[in-house]
Amino acid sequence: MKTVKLYDRDHYLREFEAEVVAVDACGVELDGTAFYAEAGGQAGDSGALNGLRVVDTRVVSDRIVHVMEDSPGLRPGDSVVGVIDWDRRYRIMRLHTASHIMEYFLWRRFGFMKRTGSYVDDKKDRADYLHDGRLEPEKLKAVEVDTNGFLAEGHPVKIEVDDEGMRHWSCGPVEMLCAGAHVRNTCEVGAVKLKRRNPGRGEERVETSLAE
Ligand SMILES: [Zn+2]
Repeated sequence: MKTVKLYDRDHYLREFEAEVVAVDACGVELDGTAFYAEAGGQAGDSGALNGLRVVDTRVVSDRIVHVMEDSPGLRPGDSVVGVIDWDRRYRIMRLHTASHIMEYFLWRRFGFMKRTGSYVDDKKDRADYLHDGRLEPEKLKAVEVDTNGFLAEGHPVKIEVDDEGMRHWSCGPVEMLCAGAHVRNTCEVGAVKLKRRNPGRGEERVETSLAE
């Protein structure tokens, strides 16, 4: 049975009721969940089921599994109230939205660079790009200024689902496929800071963090 992704309908859903469908060594599976399972470079959610600590949410063999801190003592058919760690998830949503905007302005300043990987959690978004040499600090600073200017303008974020279930994310001129969790409007992000790192392998990394 496929878990219904309640967060797909509402990224702001932080509390929900569900029924346990399976419990095994990996964790607890529900008929529906607002917990985002780690996928597409976005960290899994933490929180609680009936007050029991969920330390992570993962996809295991195509199933969404809530990884519990302790043995949950739950059985199939049990009702649970799930509560996600909202402060953490909201920071992830703000950073995920910011990273898409940052990339748009990064490509405007540096030209297109192939993204080889990315990961966002509540501390930062990091994105790796194929690039010869280093990203010049002045140009990266300009990307930060561009990004923060755009974020402050308060652009709405739109997500449209096509017939194949693909999720099309757009905000102003920026468009991509993305199944992650996002804020509704860029004004919710606030300002960000960008930092360059060199992970080797002919790549450059851009780290985006919240400026507060
Ligand atoms: Zn995304």
